[in-house]
Amino acid sequence: MKSMEKIVSLCKRRGFLFQSSEIYGGVQGFWDYGPLGVELKRNLKDAWWHDMISGHNELVQCDGAPSTHEMVGLDSTIIMHPQVWKCSGHYDLFHDHMVDCRESKKRYRFDQVRGRWCEHRDKKIFVSTLAEMEQEEAEVRRRAMKFFKLRPKNADELTVGSESLTLDKLDSTTDVLAPESKTLDTLTEPREFNLMFKTTLGALGGENDTTFLRPETAQGIFVNFKNVVDSSRVKIPFGIAQVGKSFRNEITPRNFTFRSREFEQMEIEFFCHPDESQKWYTYWRDRRLAWYKELGLSDELLIMREHHKEELAHYSVGTADIEYAFPFLPEGEYGELEGIAHRGDFDLRSHMEGKLDPSTDPMTVQLGENGKPKYKGSGRDLSYRDLETNEKFIPHVVEPSAGADRGALAFLCEAYTEDEAPDEKGNLQTRTVLKLHPRLAPIKAAIFPLVKKEGMPEIAKELYGELKQQMPAFYDEKGAVGKRYRRQDEVGTPYCITIDGDTLTDKTVTIRDRDTLEQTRVKIDDVVAEIQQRIS
Ligand code: ATP
Repeated sequence: MKSMEKIVSLCKRRGFLFQSSEIYGGVQGFWDYGPLGVELKRNLKDAWWHDMISGHNELVQCDGAPSTHEMVGLDSTIIMHPQVWKCSGHYDLFHDHMVDCRESKKRYRFDQVRGRWCEHRDKKIFVSTLAEMEQEEAEVRRRAMKFFKLRPKNADELTVGSESLTLDKLDSTTDVLAPESKTLDTLTEPREFNLMFKTTLGALGGENDTTFLRPETAQGIFVNFKNVVDSSRVKIPFGIAQVGKSFRNEITPRNFTFRSREFEQMEIEFFCHPDESQKWYTYWRDRRLAWYKELGLSDELLIMREHHKEELAHYSVGTADIEYAFPFLPEGEYGELEGIAHRGDFDLRSHMEGKLDPSTDPMTVQLGENGKPKYKGSGRDLSYRDLETNEKFIPHVVEPSAGADRGALAFLCEAYTEDEAPDEKGNLQTRTVLKLHPRLAPIKAAIFPLVKKEGMPEIAKELYGELKQQMPAFYDEKGAVGKRYRRQDEVGTPYCITIDGDTLTDKTVTIRDRDTLEQTRVKIDDVVAEIQQRIS
């Protein structure tokens, strides 16, 4: 049985993940990757970089018509000019709303997608008992709407008792639903909370020197748009990609690495002509979903959730989330792995023109020509001129934005398997195996001498040396060979190579396949090429 407890325990035991600063009791929301974890996450980022960027300058079919698009990379800084965050909207709008329960001391955040207060951001409702739950939910929702003028987005979510309520009905019904219920006294007033980590520039920095750790890598791309166009002569449509750390002071970091305060993102900003943006949006949505499947996430645990119209940011024409049924979620619920957003020309325009005062109605902040910007933009011309048609326009942007840590966690959860395999005496034993895609596996091959004599260790070490030049490999000569296989299965090593008595005479070795348990004999001179071919 797959359970989060077992996955977490394996991660710690075998060196995938440790709590940050564990010897001092840890810090919530921060995780360190151990020797195997760092390889797994790097393999994931490398696969993304290769498949989306370096290996992607090719002829592609977009909406039936062939179209070449280029992809280039960028590595921008974590700390940027504070104006970036004002013009991006993060300074005013990157808020969570929270309340505390005085009784339970638990903290809740308003989930804008679900239109309800959640104990944490992973869609778990905090109330637990029947009638009380109905009253509490309705009341909490009413209070949320009152305070933030936020409407629940989905009428199906508004089930109170056996009745499914529409918005109009809810408004007229909430007064009848025990407004002076005891829950009113147990929740503090909702507060707004900006998720950006603040820091100060310079030794004598004051209030004016406050800046932020980036909460996403995307803005580094937008502010470098002109630099990239001018220096690399890319032509629209093209994408700029970046992998790097982002920081969010999450109110309730939970569920292992799923919601961390420091995490890595893999983001693409894809710039295209406004008339073509819809088809590129569809292209990236489909391409990104296919990528997760190619690397091993199963179809039935993945969904593409198109956002409802009312859920979309005001500038967005479409947004879809790729979600995965993580084992820590209740059945039927999914957690976001990646968002693919059609962002129009919002970001480039904001960095050109600045931003209006968003305080009037934060949910419908707009840029306009007639209002004075509250925040001054860069004043730089971030439009693009098509040299063939001479048309000048502000490109539209499609943004596939993925989390490397959530990706790594999803692949770990998917890979965790318990099955039965025969031990050396042929008896079936339960084995734990990580069925990771060979591209993601931290160790590609392990080399064992069957016994520590007759020259076997020497032959094995020589082969190990050769393999290590080509791929991450592991040498192990300790204990029974069956146990050594198990240890490699548990960390997802796809192939184990054993040097045995026959090697001494016919110069062949066995290659054991992690998933099928099949063993094949291969000439020792061909092993490196054979493993390379199998993992490619
Ligand atoms: P959520 O609704 O789960 O908070 P989000 O919609 O705020 O996510 P985005 O801003 O779209 O997330 O960020 C893009 C990706 O970055 C997410 O799909 C996710 O994979 C990753 N990500 C965002 N926040 C975190 C976090 N706190 N910890 C780990 N990964 C994160």
